[in-house]
Amino acid sequence: MSSSLISSRNALAKATELHAKASTDFATKLAETQALLQRAAAEFAPVVQASSLGAEDVVITHLINSLPLDIPVFVLETGALHTETLALLERTQAHSLAPIHVFRPVQASVIQFVRDKGQDAMYQSMDLRKACCGVRKLEPLARALTGQRAWITGLRQEQSSTRAEVPLLDTSEENTKNLAKFNPLARWTWGDVWHYIATNQVDYNPLHDQFFPSIGCAPCTRAISLGEAFRAGRWWWEDETAKECGLHVKK
Ligand code: SF4
Repeated sequence: MSSSLISSRNALAKATELHAKASTDFATKLAETQALLQRAAAEFAPVVQASSLGAEDVVITHLINSLPLDIPVFVLETGALHTETLALLERTQAHSLAPIHVFRPVQASVIQFVRDKGQDAMYQSMDLRKACCGVRKLEPLARALTGQRAWITGLRQEQSSTRAEVPLLDTSEENTKNLAKFNPLARWTWGDVWHYIATNQVDYNPLHDQFFPSIGCAPCTRAISLGEAFRAGRWWWEDETAKECGLHVKK
């Protein structure tokens, strides 16, 4: 997408103005989400929220803080995040009642990987891309989930074909981490997410105003064009069905 198109869109509207549109049953879905988060805190402690600081995750953190619930939050700071995401992380740490824990990759592993495979290894093959995700995301994720009984994610059924059957609560054996997995926004639409953000004036990543609906590491995320799929800007050089970093892949 050309920079002139991006800037002309920026002049038009912010993400809150563009996307906020509640479903007719939004109130029901919100109550369902709140009840699920309360159940997670009451019956599944210790439980933790995994946050990428994307739109869905800032909604969940806001709900945890406003209910309020004894659920800490963790962020995987991969060392390759956008400056906008890092700035939002700082603001969130400053304002959240729930503790925000940051997990970073093992520095020596990152240095070794970059030295052996190169800074741009993720573009060379899917194996190398997954190896990079392994070092920067999966190993820190394993540490973040150690000792937990459950975790909470921002997965939504609408996000992609591979997420179309995401349940509100996943306790299936094929759950890769052997932890109960809460997906309290599973049934929310993109319009619902932005309706909540707009209504509650939730702080969000300004990249969403620049047509980044799904935000990951900077080298692996781009803005999308009109009509492109929600996750088209993630690992855009790969096949649609392979667009997961391993955080949410089942056995
Ligand atoms: S998303 Fe890209 S930069 Fe981030 S860990 Fe995966 S391959 Fe590496």
